Amino acid sequence: MTQTQPNDRLEQFRHDTRAWLEQNCPPQMREPAVTESDLYWGGRRAQFSSEAQQQWFERMVQRGWTVPQWPTTYGGGGLSSDEARVLREEMARLKCRSPLVSFGISMLGPALLRYGSEAQKLEHLPKIARGEIRWSQGYSEPGAGTDLASLRTRAELAGDHFIVNGSKIWTSYGDKADWIFCLVRTDFAAKKHDGISFLLFDMQSPGVTTTPIRLISGYSPFTQTFYDNVKVPRANLVGEVNQGWTIAKYLLTHERNMIGGMGTQRTRPLHELARESVGLADGRLADAGLRTDIARYDMDALAFALTMERVQAQAKAGNETGALSSMLKYYGTELNRRRAELAMSIAGTDGLKFADGETTLAATWLRTRGNSIEGGTSEIQLNIIARQVLKLPS
Ligand SMILES: Cc1cc2nc3c(=O)[nH]c(=O)nc-3n(C[C@H](O)[C@H](O)[C@H](O)COP(=O)(O)OP(=O)(O)OC[C@H]3O[C@@H](n4cnc5c(N)ncnc54)[C@H](O)[C@@H]3O)c2cc1C
Repeated sequence: MTQTQPNDRLEQFRHDTRAWLEQNCPPQMREPAVTESDLYWGGRRAQFSSEAQQQWFERMVQRGWTVPQWPTTYGGGGLSSDEARVLREEMARLKCRSPLVSFGISMLGPALLRYGSEAQKLEHLPKIARGEIRWSQGYSEPGAGTDLASLRTRAELAGDHFIVNGSKIWTSYGDKADWIFCLVRTDFAAKKHDGISFLLFDMQSPGVTTTPIRLISGYSPFTQTFYDNVKVPRANLVGEVNQGWTIAKYLLTHERNMIGGMGTQRTRPLHELARESVGLADGRLADAGLRTDIARYDMDALAFALTMERVQAQAKAGNETGALSSMLKYYGTELNRRRAELAMSIAGTDGLKFADGETTLAATWLRTRGNSIEGGTSEIQLNIIARQVLKLPS
């Protein structure tokens, strides 16, 4: 009697996944995202920008493949890390877009899976997986950015709920989010890292207001959020009172991996852009210097994508990424910036064009500067690497 070997099972999974994706991912969802609305963020007020986007999203939700490795009980696909890798590979092969972009998936979800109570997992994770609730991140404050543990937004326990007062800043999409995961100070007397708690609350709660922060481009991806006697049920505390710093740090490693992953995101290949603007000579790009720069970038990007895969596999096997997430964040954001700079130099003056609603080269290039700040600045990642990886003295 012959037994099915693990590799055969994985090959069968690949075969089935490929067939399913070919049948279910609409052709429009295999094109790179160009405008903001090409990405679906979910949430109570979300709207699909096309029928294809809706179909693709709903089909993926049904299989639990918006969060392939989360347990099925929480709306996930219950895939093993090998199966999830195969799914990623097959989606990349067909150039499928991600069906749902969400801070719930990339940040809060992993933290809840590790630190949330069973009731919190059952309440929040399926809604994240189904894109029903859009989350924002309430970490930074006007006086607490890099030195995050100095935060002063306070939460006082009053019976079965907390009363929250204070303000957060640079809250990405704070005006579009339904809920926020928020760091609050619950003990002002303790050492600063020991008096922080991790709270979840609805942005519709009385006492919450958001003010957009406009950028020079007129675009406003951030808000400042204000909390005036916001009542938050005690049940929305994740982990123990005053133990929030551990959760905050764990979530940051996931945020950094996610931001680093932008260095591997699928965009239009640089050689295509270059062919259009510089042209060919003898079947090769006319500009030899540019050819070298693009080849060097492509090789670095490929090596980085493979490194990301390896680190993800390690993390899924239970080896925490820790300082590795700082390395990935730093290198991924540098790579992303290099790509945007190359694209700008290829496009020349055309790169400066601004079109309404379209993510232009110039806007993308400017946004890459933000990558080196959000989730902890590049200087801070280098400090962490120096101390924890290279063991250099402080
Ligand atoms: C695009 C974007 C999105 C963001 N989204 C969110 C969000 O959704 N939620 C949220 O809570 N926050 C968000 N932030 C805020 C972000 O986390 C902070 O900007 C970041 O942590 C830096 O804090 P800061 O701006 O106060 O700068 P500061 O901490 O004031 O730092 C200023 C400069 O000093 C340097 N510096 C500070 N301390 C040191 C040190 N010890 N050693 C060496 N250099 C140092 C920094 O590297 C930086 O260059 C976002 C930021 C950006 C750019």
